[in-house]
Order: sequence, then structure tokens, then C-alpha cells
Amino acid sequence: MSTKYAALNPTPRVLMGPGPSNVPPAVYRAMGLPLVGHLDPQFIALMEEVKQMLRDVMLTKNAMTFPVSGTGSAGMEFCCVNLIEPGDEALICINGVFGTRMTDVAQRCGALVTNVKAPWGRIIEPDDVAATLKTMKAPKLVGIVHAETSTGAWQPMEEISRIVHEHGALLLMDCVTSLGGCPVRVDDWQVDAAYSGTQKCLSCPPGLAPVTLGPRALEKATKRKTKVASWYFDVNLLASYWGQDRVYHHTAPVTMNYALREALRLVLEEGLENRWARHERNHRALKAGLEAIGITIASQEGHQLWPLNSATIPAGADDAAVRKALLQRYSLEIGGGLGELKGKTWRIGLMGESSREENVMLFLSGLGAVLNELGCKTGTAAALAAAREVYSR
Ligand SMILES: *Cc1c(COP(=O)(O)O)cnc(C)c1O
Repeated sequence: MSTKYAALNPTPRVLMGPGPSNVPPAVYRAMGLPLVGHLDPQFIALMEEVKQMLRDVMLTKNAMTFPVSGTGSAGMEFCCVNLIEPGDEALICINGVFGTRMTDVAQRCGALVTNVKAPWGRIIEPDDVAATLKTMKAPKLVGIVHAETSTGAWQPMEEISRIVHEHGALLLMDCVTSLGGCPVRVDDWQVDAAYSGTQKCLSCPPGLAPVTLGPRALEKATKRKTKVASWYFDVNLLASYWGQDRVYHHTAPVTMNYALREALRLVLEEGLENRWARHERNHRALKAGLEAIGITIASQEGHQLWPLNSATIPAGADDAAVRKALLQRYSLEIGGGLGELKGKTWRIGLMGESSREENVMLFLSGLGAVLNELGCKTGTAAALAAAREVYSR
């Protein structure tokens, strides 16, 4: 029987936006492996491995570490819905889109939210957190984004963690864009709860949200006076599924877990330190190349993320036209600015598998050519030379 639908055949892209990043061949191969039941002993063994691999990558000993079924935002919802009881005071830090989203999620969980804000592109100042916590009666939770993907700001955690704990609150960290691309030290920083996503620096397709809850967070979640408002994300139920009992809760997306296991295996095979160093090097080369043609990194100096580079769009350049030309002619995707930064910045991701020397060089060549064609004179050769110089060090 004929059909009007052609076989699916997407053109491969160089994914240099804010996620998803490119997926390594080994991860695609893992996704083609035979499905088994989610309570099959083979899958149960895989669940145990994935939990341990996640602990190794998140640098934590937390027993409650596993992938929530859903994307990064599901990790955010999971943490908020379990750790917040209606009426709890929460402080959520906002310096971009994801702190704004976390505020919305926390409010939906019934939190009385106070915000500490910083201008988009800048980090949250510990002093501001300390001063605001002093004005609150009984702050229960402080939420903060480690790597603000909307702005490229890289938040230092240690000082803020100390302050949060002095006030007896739990620290919730969004490490969606940082995990696997720059240091994330859950235990060293005494982070009580953290969530991530698979499609950023872990280079796995979107679909799972690694989460970890430390002892204090777990105590809060298990000793609540009120039922967790979400059945799907209730850690008390998920614990019997991902723990020793294997009580059916939902059907874990088996293939996604194959993919995550393989992606985590690749991260650990490369080594965390090596992987971070690779992300740093490619960030430095990209930054040097952009600066050589007068394009600056928009986020705060000294706190610029390696996996996500927010570049100020040069005067006279047409944001959408440049991104469209890069996609059409180079099959290369970068992101536009979000929220306040729409039309002002490009977001150039160098995440996981996409963080490669050849991608940096391809992007700089393509950007130079496209800008010139669109009437914005730039010296492509200077950009390439500056990036090359970083690689030759
Ligand atoms: C991408 C991202 C999210 C949301 O993840 P989704 O997979 O899109 O649901 C949350 N926080 C940060 C910092 C992100 O970069």
C-alpha cells in the first residue's frame, strides 16, 4: 500500500545551540539494541549501573541518585514538588530564564517565593543571598542555577552553599547545562538536591533528568506532612521502583536508559577532568576567534561558561538572517537570545560531543562568510588565526 508520507530522513546538523548537542554514534547504537521489559533482570542491572555512573559523574555518594523520566524541566519539577510543602518559604535566585522558570514551578508547589535577582549575564552575589535570607522568617529552600543557559553565566556555588546552610535551608542546584561540561561537585559543595538533563553536556538525546537528593533533602521529602502533589514525581513512590523493591510505578523509558548508560560510559571513559579541559579549551578558542573580529562574550568576565557562549550580536548584523544562513549553508545550528536578550545575543553551545576543535573552526569560518555576505565586513582569517593560536598553545 502506498502512503503519502515519505520515510523520515532528517539532514544531519552540527548542533551548536543551547541543546540538544550532537549524539555520539555509540549512543545511537545503544538506542538500536533490543528492548527488554522494564522489570527484566537485565534492565534492573542496568538501572543499578546507571545510578552508580550518575553518582560518579555528579561526584556524590547520595544513594538517591537516578534519572527521572522526562527532560531537564521534569528534574526541576521533581525536586520542587518533593522538597516544597505548601506555605514553605523559598528563596529562588533569578539571573536568567531558568531561575524565572524555577520560581514559577516553586510557586505552583505552594512555596512563598522571595527572589534574589542579578542582571542577566551576571552571577548571583552571595551577599545578596545572605541579606535576603535574613529578612525571611524560616527559609526552607534556596534554588539557584549553576549554569544559566540563557545568559552564559557560571555561578560559583561554595560560598552560597555555606550561607544557605547557616540559615538551615536546603540548597537546590540546577546543573542541566554544567553536568559533563564543567566541574559539578555535589558532595564537596554540600548541595542537597540537584537535577540535570541528558541533551546538554552528556550528549544523549533529551528524555531523562538525572537527579540526586542528599540525606537532608530525602528527610524533608519522606517526612512531609502533606502528600506530594504529583503522583508521577513522588520520590516516596519512585524510591520503591528505582530501589531494591522494584515495585511497578511507571514504565521507565528503556531505550532512553540504554542511551544514558552509554553516554555516561563515554563520559567516564574520557574522564571528568579531561572532559572539562576539552570544554575549556574549545571555549577559549571560540572566544579568542570571536574577539578577533570584535564580537564579545556577553556574560560577566571571570564567570563565563565553557559549554555555552553568549555572544553579543555585532551592530548591523541581522540576528535571524545569520542563524538561518548558518543552518541552510553549513547545516549548523546556534541559538538566539532568550527573554531580555532576544535579538541581542547568539548562544553558541560547545556541549559534550559538539565541543570539538573542528566545530569551532567551522563555526568561525561560517560566521565570517555569512556576515560578509550580509554586508557586515569581518576578517574571517583573523578569527581563524586567533582560534588556531589557542589550539597551538
Ligand atoms: C535546558 C535547561 C533546562 C530545561 O531542560 P529541558 O530539557 O529543556 O526541559 C533547565 N535548566 C537549564 C539551566 C537548562 O539549560
